[in-house]
Amino acid sequence: MIIRPRRLRQSAGLRAMLQETRLAPRNFISPLFVVSGKGVKEPIAAMPGQYHFSVDTLVKEISELKQNGILSVLLFGIPDQKDAKASRAYADDGIVPQAVKAIKDKLPEMTVITDVCLCAYTDHGHCGVATPDGRIDNDATLDLLARQALSHAKAGADFTAPSDMMDGRVAAIRAALNQHHFPDVGIISYAVKYASAFYGPFREATDCAPQFGDRKTYQMDPANTREALKEALLDIEEGADMIMVKPALAYLDIISLVRVECLLPVVAYNVSGEYSMVKAAAEKGWLDETKIMLEMLLSIKRAGADLIVTYFAKEAAAALRDE
Ligand SMILES: [Zn+2]
Repeated sequence: MIIRPRRLRQSAGLRAMLQETRLAPRNFISPLFVVSGKGVKEPIAAMPGQYHFSVDTLVKEISELKQNGILSVLLFGIPDQKDAKASRAYADDGIVPQAVKAIKDKLPEMTVITDVCLCAYTDHGHCGVATPDGRIDNDATLDLLARQALSHAKAGADFTAPSDMMDGRVAAIRAALNQHHFPDVGIISYAVKYASAFYGPFREATDCAPQFGDRKTYQMDPANTREALKEALLDIEEGADMIMVKPALAYLDIISLVRVECLLPVVAYNVSGEYSMVKAAAEKGWLDETKIMLEMLLSIKRAGADLIVTYFAKEAAAALRDE
């Protein structure tokens, strides 16, 4: 006798009933880039459909996201000045605190997550402070990251998201938040972040390509699996509320592993290279952008991600509504 799994695929109704994984706009986090100025909405060439926003246009964009069912944004600041100590990263009047205040003023129910890292603020483009001989000084960086997180918390951020990959930064940020009476501000840790070529377009967006060396002394080797688990467990021990895996598509096995081994919500970052590849191929007419986008996001969710940071957030939400 033939066993017939096809019986359950016979009609659109049956297929819809039996779908095991579903995407929803509420699972998407929209990453956004904020710059100084007014009325700015400057396209980012390497990421078609993405922009540098000034605070006023950013708030407008976020209200559109909200109308599309997106509940959360992740902010990246691009400062006017960079220096060796990343001074603008932890200034209370910095670009990210300004943006957080404006969002919370107009859209208080939006969950605001802020990226915490020094690379957009240092003149050398590394995620931490550099020693005179060009090494990245882990422990000297921790204090600055904690101050950066604190400046975001003071402005009203719900979560800070350290992406720097310094050892001990989750504990340092948690301690600073607690000490300054922000026990409810959470930490979404980029616990598992690989030294990936998929970040290429993002570096144009934030103008943060390292001026010397590379990030391999702090970001992880794409070949490593056990190390991913070690990093995730360490960040949980240090007090992370959610853990992130970045990038997503080339690391679906890692997302699955972290999902099975850890109890916290798992966030996956569908990074700029994953986004821009689809945009470029679609522009050439080589593939169906909407279908590819939804299939990619579905694969990330199926692998075990609870939440997906994605530049497709707005488009995917619209596509899901029309489905
Ligand atoms: Zn960085």
